[in-house]
Amino acid sequence: MTRLLLLGGTSEARDLARQLAGQVDLTLSLAGRTRAPELDGVRTRIGGFGGAEGFARHLAETGTDAVLDATHPFAAEMSRRSAAVATRAGLPYLMLRRPGWQPDPEDDWIRVPDTAAAARVPGRADRVFLATGRQTLPEFARMRAARCWCRQIDPPEGAFPFPKGEFLVGRPPFPETEEIALFERLGVTLLVVKDAGGAASRSKLDAARALGIRVVMIDRPDLSDLPQVSTVAQALTWVEELPCPSDA
Ligand code: NAP
Repeated sequence: MTRLLLLGGTSEARDLARQLAGQVDLTLSLAGRTRAPELDGVRTRIGGFGGAEGFARHLAETGTDAVLDATHPFAAEMSRRSAAVATRAGLPYLMLRRPGWQPDPEDDWIRVPDTAAAARVPGRADRVFLATGRQTLPEFARMRAARCWCRQIDPPEGAFPFPKGEFLVGRPPFPETEEIALFERLGVTLLVVKDAGGAASRSKLDAARALGIRVVMIDRPDLSDLPQVSTVAQALTWVEELPCPSDA
């Protein structure tokens, strides 16, 4: 049976893990940044590998036959490194990267290349919803804005890193009606979003459109040179077509 390492951190990875369990000798790997609910029948390892060397060692020690990378579209370091190490080890590698979001005519989006550029957009009166995750918060510390909020899945371990901000806690999915109610209650005037793509987290963009809230859309890192597909079905086909370990 093909020994497949599935790099996770997205809803697509969970979907793949459910579908591949039993079909291949599967291990799902998570960085461990959030407390993800366990998947029944899926062997899961949690935590970093210890850089490129640790990853290469892990592949060799576990006899991994192929690497399917379904990490988040912004987890660029992990994808680049995994592709390079797998290729050096002579193992098939594929990234599943869902398409980015596209604006509708009624949307009011400003596209920016990175977080630093996003942090320069708000004005002093803006009330900003940062849907960008806690890892990038330090980059917003000098942002002009009246108030800001950052939502995270697990309860925060420390105080918000700068005075005008506040954490909100919530686990997706967030229905559009709830996003509308939240943005109205907070008086949000600007939404900052990474171009993560995907249907599940699109509801905040739909809510912003409904309320006429401006959106700052951070472009995804360019990983166009890595072998990739954009749907779970395509990734499953790739797995089906992997050579049997005994054929190799
Ligand atoms: P990153 O900057 O590309 O990677 C940082 C380090 O995290 C990697 O060098 C690796 O540590 C470890 N890592 C990342 N994904 C891993 C996995 N699936 N299994 C084991 N170790 C992993 O990644 P990131 O942006 O910090 O994201 C971390 C995780 O959160 C990813 O799995 C990603 O899918 C998920 N996520 C990220 C975002 C985002 O906006 N960036 C959003 C939602 C979910 P070692 O070098 O020690 O191996």
